[in-house]
Amino acid sequence: MNAVITDPAAAIPGLTWNNRFATLGPDFFTELRPTPLPSPYWVGRNQAVARELGLQEQWFASQESLDLFTGNVLAQGSQPLASVYSGHQFGQWAGQLGDGRAILLGELQTAAGPQEIQLKGAGLTPYSRMGDGRAVLRSSIREYLCSEAMHGLGIPTTRALCITGSDARVRREEVETAAVVTRMAPSFIRFGHFEHFSYSDQHEQLKILADFVIDNFYPECRDAAQPYAELLQAVSERTAHMVAAWQAVGFCHGVMNTDNMSILGLTIDYGPFQFLDAFDPGHICNHSDTQGRYAYNKQPNIAYWNLFCLGQALLPLMDTQEQALAALESYKTVFPEKLEGRMRAKLGLPDSRPEDKALIEGIFKLLAADRVDYTIFWRRLSGLAAGGPPEAVRDLFLDRQGFDTWLLQYSERAAPVDQGLRADFMLESNPKYVLRNHLGEQAIRAAKLQDFSGVDTLLKLLQAPFGEHPDHEAFAGFPPDWASSIEISCSS
Ligand code: AMP
Ligand code: MG
Repeated sequence: MNAVITDPAAAIPGLTWNNRFATLGPDFFTELRPTPLPSPYWVGRNQAVARELGLQEQWFASQESLDLFTGNVLAQGSQPLASVYSGHQFGQWAGQLGDGRAILLGELQTAAGPQEIQLKGAGLTPYSRMGDGRAVLRSSIREYLCSEAMHGLGIPTTRALCITGSDARVRREEVETAAVVTRMAPSFIRFGHFEHFSYSDQHEQLKILADFVIDNFYPECRDAAQPYAELLQAVSERTAHMVAAWQAVGFCHGVMNTDNMSILGLTIDYGPFQFLDAFDPGHICNHSDTQGRYAYNKQPNIAYWNLFCLGQALLPLMDTQEQALAALESYKTVFPEKLEGRMRAKLGLPDSRPEDKALIEGIFKLLAADRVDYTIFWRRLSGLAAGGPPEAVRDLFLDRQGFDTWLLQYSERAAPVDQGLRADFMLESNPKYVLRNHLGEQAIRAAKLQDFSGVDTLLKLLQAPFGEHPDHEAFAGFPPDWASSIEISCSS
């Protein structure tokens, strides 16, 4: 099982590999091969991403493809590597981390530009530390489903092409089995990559990395008077956009360490995440997060804290500290704007009015007081705009009077907006389906018994979360009582 593959190599028909990250040089990564897993099998294949990559359907289903995406044969023309990064974990400097179980194969060309392809769980790397280089089936299914769910919701994220599984045993709290998720993103560079070179006083490499990111992903920053401050500002804005989208949909990431923050503002590294069931602003989804550092309502400030770390790391490239602080300020203006925009969309209000802030705060207060189911509330409110009965929404609250008062305010505010347009806008802004913990859990339980149909059903549903799927009403219902006893930790 520890044999490193050298041969054979498999070509993906019609596609050629590139690897711009590899041009950065050996200070940034270690070249290595994935470690094979015995007798792999398919757990899930995502045809949507396959189409974006231009994979031929028949080839994608082949044994060669299964072996390639497990890491059992080398992708011909690829240049596999694990990158080095560092980071702050739970508020503390953690030193060197790096790709401990992810191996970058390289880039494939898509209509949306080059996309990096990474195998997560593909074996030991020089950065594995105490880990085994593997990922378990359970967490791999969660990542596969959630990244595609986020994409379906219009939230910036890494994507997932497929999962392969093996009966190889992996020890966590209990013995589980191994899996590999093939992930895709324009780049997997994290805040932690910058911190790594800054904290180790490798300022030349820090500049090489920043120039690489600017030239390839933020070319508009190049002509600014201070390109690195401009980069920090652009990253702050993208991060603000991402976190506003999380808050609006009720998504908790769970481990917002700086090594889990994408330099492109993508949601990355799906671990103990959760979509809120009942609306609890202080909800902590990660069972290992005993202090609640990454609680739902702390996420916006934590994102700023993380950006501050990035700013600190970039300081050697700037003339003054003020440049970094000014760049970071943009987060404080963009985040509330983006959040208000997302919340207005949920309310079906296309234009902004001064009274909207109070309206939004008002509904959050009511939802929190009665621990109303977050997704169901917004979907039923959309249904009300579409001509549905008010009771369906009203009955969600214990404080009916409070809700009636709010509804009256909202109705007055919404009156000038064409009702049909508002209903359409709301139904496109308030998903019917999100990846609730218990839905993932049901698919995982079946998958552990070799039934992968639930994974595929959920994937397709979550890729179209705003649609009506009459055959799958149950997936849009309230969580069962046992959902609140699911404990999701960092173990993955
Ligand atoms: P995470 O909390 O999943 O973002 O991981 C934090 C760090 O631990 C990263 O450097 C990961 O690559 C590494 N890591 C997590 N799990 C494993 C594992 N099973 N084997 C090797 N490295 C791991
Ligand atoms: Mg991570």
